[in-house]
Amino acid sequence: MEQIGTFGASRYTARDLQLFRGEHDPAVAAALAACTVVRLACGQRIEDGARARLYIVLSGMLEIASNTLTGDDEGTSRILPGESAGEQAVLDDAVNLAAMTALEDCELLVVESDLVWELIDRSNVLARNLLRLLSFRVRAANALLRRRQKLGEFYRQLSLNDGLTGLYNRAWLNEMLPKLVARARQDGAPLSLVMIDLDHFKRFNDTHGHLAGDAALSAAANVIRSALRPSDFAVRYGGEEMLAVLPDTNAELATIVAERLCLRLRAAIVFPDMRLALPHLTGSFGVACLAPGGDERSLVADADAALYRAKQAGRDRVSA
Ligand code: GH3
Ligand code: MG
Ligand code: MG
Repeated sequence: MEQIGTFGASRYTARDLQLFRGEHDPAVAAALAACTVVRLACGQRIEDGARARLYIVLSGMLEIASNTLTGDDEGTSRILPGESAGEQAVLDDAVNLAAMTALEDCELLVVESDLVWELIDRSNVLARNLLRLLSFRVRAANALLRRRQKLGEFYRQLSLNDGLTGLYNRAWLNEMLPKLVARARQDGAPLSLVMIDLDHFKRFNDTHGHLAGDAALSAAANVIRSALRPSDFAVRYGGEEMLAVLPDTNAELATIVAERLCLRLRAAIVFPDMRLALPHLTGSFGVACLAPGGDERSLVADADAALYRAKQAGRDRVSA
């Protein structure tokens, strides 16, 4: 960073500076005139970030990476001629952690921290302009935060849902089933599972192709999801296996739910090819209810065992 003279000797005046817009006090102009102007070559960084100083861009463009600690480059902003950087570090007297880099050759006016405070004491106009600027920066930062929160939530949803069927996935189940079990035990409420496996799905794939298999799987998932109550959860457990999680539901009621799912799946046109005989797809259903002293593992194992019995008994049916 090369000193090239004072502000007074430059071709700029206080009117070119956003923070001093509307300020006509000659004493303020005189104080500014004595401040140093430095030149920063394109790509060069301001190295004295540890000092609280106000920088005002006279020409060129500065880039500020607002979070040098995390290397998060989403927070960069550009400072154009007339705009300032570093005012926050001056105001809260903190180390300036933001990395400032010249995006073009820059001329910068440097106002030391003490002088900024003197000028604030003297100039209401500067104080107002600073408040307005800070308010704007807070708003922008909040908006960025909200966007990131939304994005984070979006990715979280994405990571907990199965891409093909839109059902919850195994990651969701691993996170939520222990919680649902713990809550059921705490409340002394029943909790049931229905494990679902599509019948002869390998044959379906072999006959119609894998893409049609995908479509059928997705349609079957829709059938299951839409047949459940809002308080239930539908999960894709594995390839063509799904799991309905039914809180506050005892074995008897879960069996009724499973019968309904079985019927709906049998009746559904999951593969709308009229050349093929209906029904196109059936499933086998295993019902289990959380046993006293049981946990999520025993619950899933019980549902799996019941499913096996449904397969053994001839498929397209419910076993408990
Ligand atoms: P069963 O009635 O005994 O369950 O017979 P099945 O053929 O359904 O049983 P198996 O578990 O042997 O085969 C499951 C088939 O499901 C094999 C696999 O290719 C298919 N499958 C699993 N996931 C997907 C998927 O995402 N898309 C498609 N198209 N097929 C899948
Ligand atoms: Mg199967
Ligand atoms: Mg299977």
